Amino acid sequence: MRWTLRRMERASPEEIVGYQERRLRAMVRLAASRSPFYREWFAASRVDPRSIRTLADLPRLPLLERHDLARRPDRFRVYPSKAMWTAHSSGTSGQVVTVHRTAGSSAYELATLQRQWAWFGIPHRPRSLVLRSHDPDPHGTGVLTRQVPGARQLTISSYRLDPDRLPRLLEEIRAFDPQVIEGWPSSITALGCLLEDAGQRLPVTAVITSSEVITAEQRALMQQVYVGPVVDHYGQTERVAMAGNCEAGGYHQFPDYGITELLPVPGRTDSWEIVGTPLHNWGFPLFRYRTGDEVGPAPAGPCPCGRAFPLLGRIDGRVEDTFTSADGRPLPLPHTVIKNLTGLREVQVAQLAPGHFEFRLCPTDSTDLSAVQRQARKNVDTYFGPGQTVTFQIMDAVPRDSSGKLKAAVRAPHD
Ligand SMILES: [Zn+2]
Repeated sequence: MRWTLRRMERASPEEIVGYQERRLRAMVRLAASRSPFYREWFAASRVDPRSIRTLADLPRLPLLERHDLARRPDRFRVYPSKAMWTAHSSGTSGQVVTVHRTAGSSAYELATLQRQWAWFGIPHRPRSLVLRSHDPDPHGTGVLTRQVPGARQLTISSYRLDPDRLPRLLEEIRAFDPQVIEGWPSSITALGCLLEDAGQRLPVTAVITSSEVITAEQRALMQQVYVGPVVDHYGQTERVAMAGNCEAGGYHQFPDYGITELLPVPGRTDSWEIVGTPLHNWGFPLFRYRTGDEVGPAPAGPCPCGRAFPLLGRIDGRVEDTFTSADGRPLPLPHTVIKNLTGLREVQVAQLAPGHFEFRLCPTDSTDLSAVQRQARKNVDTYFGPGQTVTFQIMDAVPRDSSGKLKAAVRAPHD
């Protein structure tokens, strides 16, 4: 796997396309024979799977939407679900999808990231301080950090950052001596703000970010407090396409991970939607999945780093308001509290006031509403901490924002 990944970063554009097309042909054959969704589609559309041979043939396959993975994800499986890992996510949209991953696909994901890290001199398995949604203290015993020994990780919660806890937190972080900091930009900058206010710095080899757009202010703060470069990658829970920055500042598609198509956004001349066809998850083949993420125009190549990986424009649309807890803590990427609320047609969490969160639920005929509500309360307790007010509103459809998009988390006045 690593050998192939190393070979691809030195490959010519033609060699890269050759690799993509070989994998595409094999995946189409597999899907057409073993995936219920694609078996039916090929039969109904009378397309011969063997006729899908090149990137130019790809658009003959149908586009997949979020709701395809929200409603009947099992129709895409070609392996038994117990042979794979299952993951759920809403992303920043209000539809929760379910996906399955093979062990090989998860190893490939990590190997692809490690290849990018190597461009910045990050060791293969760095000691990593991780700030995402992990709760290091599920039993409320007051611990601030947790070590994951096999993974060489120290996790801290993005939702427990405040000046009172900082001295003890910093002591535990320094004892662990991280080589990198990894996680959501909004969380890493929330910690950065606390450090800056306290006149502290925490130099590391690199800051590894994903999941959100980084603002110029966030980038400046991170570089000041953490000194090392920001290494950002773009991906999704569905794992259909990946991209990331290189040491020369280019933002590259990772074309051996997946085929990226850029679909024009209606009514816009400077925006494209990222559509991904993953080339590594043999148990759950997907083709042409619409991510809902939009990019601007790609800069003219080639990149000074010399790699033939195509450049990608600036990725928009992954910005989410930070919520505030009842006791005033910042709550970054609040859509975390809806990511496992499956079985709903749509779902949104709205902050009506600091510490008051309303779940807007659109059930189907088969939704177990009381189970969903129990899970939602539990999520708020786990991630945002106790002492918050949780209310529910049952709706036929969640209202869209001014651009017509369904958002997973919004700050809204009561109406
Ligand atoms: Zn580059």
